[in-house]
Amino acid sequence: MIFKHDVIIVGAGLAGLRAAMEVAGAADTALLSKVYPTRSHSGAAQGGIAAALGNEEEDFWEWHMYDTIKGGDYVADQDVAEILAKDAPRAVYELEHMGVPFNRTPEGKIAQRAFGGHTRGFGKAPVKRACYAADRSGRVILDTLYFEGVRKGLKIYPEFHMLDLVMKDNRVVGLVAYELATGEVHFFHCRAVLLATGGYGKVFKTTSNAFASTGDGVFLAYRAGIPLEDMEFVQFHPTGIYGLGVLISEAARGEGGILRNHQGERFMERYAPTIKDLAARDVVSRAIATEILEGRGINGRDYVHLDLTHLGEKKLAEKLSDITSFVKIYLGIDAATELIPVAPTCHYMMGGIQAGSHGRVLDTEQNPIPGLYAAGECSCLSLHGANRLGCNSLLDLVVFGRRAGTSILQDLKHLSWDDPPAHPMKEVQDRIRSLKERKSGEKHGRIRSAMQETMTRNCSIFRTEQSLSQALAEVRALKQQAGRVAIDNLGTRFNTDLLEALELEYLLGLAETIVVSALGRKESRGAHFRDDYPERNDDDYLKHTLVQRTDDGPQVSTKPVTITIYPPKPRTY
Ligand SMILES: Cc1cc2nc3c(=O)[nH]c(=O)nc-3n(C[C@H](O)[C@H](O)[C@H](O)COP(=O)(O)OP(=O)(O)OC[C@H]3O[C@@H](n4cnc5c(N)ncnc54)[C@H](O)[C@@H]3O)c2cc1C
Repeated sequence: MIFKHDVIIVGAGLAGLRAAMEVAGAADTALLSKVYPTRSHSGAAQGGIAAALGNEEEDFWEWHMYDTIKGGDYVADQDVAEILAKDAPRAVYELEHMGVPFNRTPEGKIAQRAFGGHTRGFGKAPVKRACYAADRSGRVILDTLYFEGVRKGLKIYPEFHMLDLVMKDNRVVGLVAYELATGEVHFFHCRAVLLATGGYGKVFKTTSNAFASTGDGVFLAYRAGIPLEDMEFVQFHPTGIYGLGVLISEAARGEGGILRNHQGERFMERYAPTIKDLAARDVVSRAIATEILEGRGINGRDYVHLDLTHLGEKKLAEKLSDITSFVKIYLGIDAATELIPVAPTCHYMMGGIQAGSHGRVLDTEQNPIPGLYAAGECSCLSLHGANRLGCNSLLDLVVFGRRAGTSILQDLKHLSWDDPPAHPMKEVQDRIRSLKERKSGEKHGRIRSAMQETMTRNCSIFRTEQSLSQALAEVRALKQQAGRVAIDNLGTRFNTDLLEALELEYLLGLAETIVVSALGRKESRGAHFRDDYPERNDDDYLKHTLVQRTDDGPQVSTKPVTITIYPPKPRTY
């Protein structure tokens, strides 16, 4: 079928929903989501949303801006970090007024807690800046925004899977989507597309991300020739449940939890003497990995302990109840009396589709591509630099989701309807047909696992030229094999076998851009640590990486970082 709407938003996480609130009602707006909308990964966010409200302790947006820049190891654009930190209180009060049930202080203000890398007085001590609803902050914000979207008349297409972005003369005219329930392929004709498709943690073996975090929007933009930015910066969260990767929010350490090695030592005192367990995530993850490599993991194995036993049952029940129950369900452990085995888990992608702080997607010359916008984790606004701070993603989604929505409304005044190409669905239909017709071949699950293995072994917390070259060779070999995938399910209803086969191409393509970008950065900065270049090198690498698809493979270039008030300094916590 052919559907027609002024604006199509792809993704029902907080970025897509917050943008939709600006546009729905004012223009004919549709929202597509490959998972049922309220199952978007934003709903899994636990710890909270950052804003210098100063409800519990003195705080200023300048401190928040500084922490964001330092957290990003000085490749965060300072003008963008300023927008984030300044707009944060307004954004949080807006959520409050929409009905988000935040925890409260005794006098009824929004309660706040400490989070990694958020400090008082430019790094002097941890500060309580994260606004939260127990440890299900994303859940309550997602439900609230979804309800607002429905109320505003947003047209929702649940379980519609975008498979192609349709461009004509360097502008967007629509997209192609697969309807999961029926197997039909549809063309959506529109004037503007917002990509809000989330992250791609599924490139790695152990991740806190949802099954759907396969980077579809990022890859489809890349395939359409749009540059991706800062792809080498992949965040590993320090505390995934060992072996599973399920997240134990930083809120656990924000509320006083302590990391311990096999001797029971609070080892973060050695790595970050000032703010210890609440240092930025890259610092804590490297510390855990170092403890493990040097034989101080628990029983010599590849995990450490998170100790919440001193917090008491009341606090665990009031502030960390979901985490307490995850630990019980997955490990049979009572967090009030037992230590939790944890190890770093792939959590967040700082890199993504290159876009400006207005949400307009930019081409290589830094010009906006007419009709194309990006927001949320799939985008790179040069905001989080080399390492995102905890609670700054939810904030990014609502601040910059809103800005993208505002830009779309402005631009609709001059964005015209363009005729689509003659057969916009043909390429996708051919791809599906050829997959279904192939009688025998490779299994997508096997190739996906092999990719996750090599990325985890060779391109995670510690990297070298050699390990990265190894990853690149393996990913390229797997890409060849992926061209020969055959599927078992030839049906039309809820054919996830088919969709996973299609997602494999995205994951492999993104893995390649991560590795190629990482090879180009011969220094250590934030989440990108090169054993062969262990120092930060501002002379040569204080810049963003861009990667663009060409017929000869990914092409890497750079662009400058915007520095306004905080000159780069050595980064210690
Ligand atoms: C377990 C966990 C806990 C977290 N806790 C916090 C926290 O406490 N604070 C914080 O600031 N950050 C947190 N984060 C990070 C933050 O939650 C994410 O970065 C953020 O939710 C991403 O939101 P999004 O709107 O960009 O996309 P998502 O919420 O990931 O949603 C992506 C959407 O895109 C849709 N989509 C994707 N591909 C397609 C396609 N091909 N076709 C159609 N639709 C598609 C999906 O269906 C979905 O609706 C956490 C992350 C995780 C994984």
